[in-house]
Parts: sequence; structure tokens; C-alpha cells
Amino acid sequence: MARPWTFHYWLGKLTPHEYYGSTLDIDPAELAARGVRGLILDLDNTLAPWKHGLPTPELAGWIESAQQAGIRCHIVSNHMGRRVRLFSRFLGIEGTASAAKPAGRAFRAAMRLMGTAPRETAVIGDQILTDILGGRRQGCHTILVVPACSRDLGWTRLVRRVERAIFRELQARGLVPAAPRRRDRR
Ligand SMILES: [Mg+2]
Repeated sequence: MARPWTFHYWLGKLTPHEYYGSTLDIDPAELAARGVRGLILDLDNTLAPWKHGLPTPELAGWIESAQQAGIRCHIVSNHMGRRVRLFSRFLGIEGTASAAKPAGRAFRAAMRLMGTAPRETAVIGDQILTDILGGRRQGCHTILVVPACSRDLGWTRLVRRVERAIFRELQARGLVPAAPRRRDRR
């Protein structure tokens, strides 16, 4: 394993295990079959478009299918509480706001609540420097999704430029597929 101060170590920590077109493209049953029992879900641009996106019946159905597959879900968002509460109420799952990802605390707290170990927990998010790095550092399975919309907060917009550069580097090295996985939805 690469040492913590090397380029390759960090490249590894920034590489998602999987890359999907959207959260709804992920098949929860397939995750469950691979031993996933808990999901840590980013909110903005992962479960819905940033800021004004609302939870949809389609998303609720997806959460339900995850639960039916024996997977517990927990929202972990860096944003404020109101929006997280709205989603967690609508979807009937717990949520943590102001999580300060990629810091590990909220990830560990979510796993404690779900009763899952890192190796049976998957993190789904649209950002490499918060969701993927944070999940990787905890030893979780990590899934990057294409952002639900291209709009974002001023600071996040800046971070995204850096993430796009990292992403191009990962793709050039063949660490991330050229195109995200999608599935046919009815
Ligand atoms: Mg996000």
C-alpha cells in the first residue's frame, strides 16, 4: 500500500470504486448481493438537484427498494438542517446535517446508527473531495454519481473545478471508466 504522503496514496483515496449516471441508476439489490447493508447518502446533487430539488416518489421508491433488500440508509450532508430534515422526513430515513465531509465523524456516527461496519457500508455522492475521499478514509465502498444539476454554491463551484481536474486525471489513468453506468428504468 502506498504511503500517506505520496501522490499515489491520495490518488487511491480519491478514486471511487464505481461510477454511475445517477443514484437511481444504482440497483440496491445488486449492492445487497455484494454484502452492502448500509448506505450513506449525500443529499444535494446526489438525491436531488441542488438547493431547490425536492424528493420525488421515484426516489422514495428507490429508498424503499434498498430497505427491502435489507439495506439501511442515512443522509449525510454538509448543508444546513432544514433541507436535510425535509428529505429525511419524506423518505423516512435518518439524516445528519452540517457533516463537514470529508471529516470522518459524521460517517462513523451514521455507521454506528445503522449498525454497519465500513466494509458493509457504501457511500454515494457526487463530489470526489467530500463524499469519495471521506468514504475512502473510513474504508467504505464508494460510488460517485454524475451531479443531478450543474448549478452549485459559489465555494462548491470552485471545488468542482478542482474535482473535474482530478477526475480527468483518474480517467486518463484508467482508474475510473470513461462513461458512467446506467440502467434501463421503466
Ligand atoms: Mg453533493
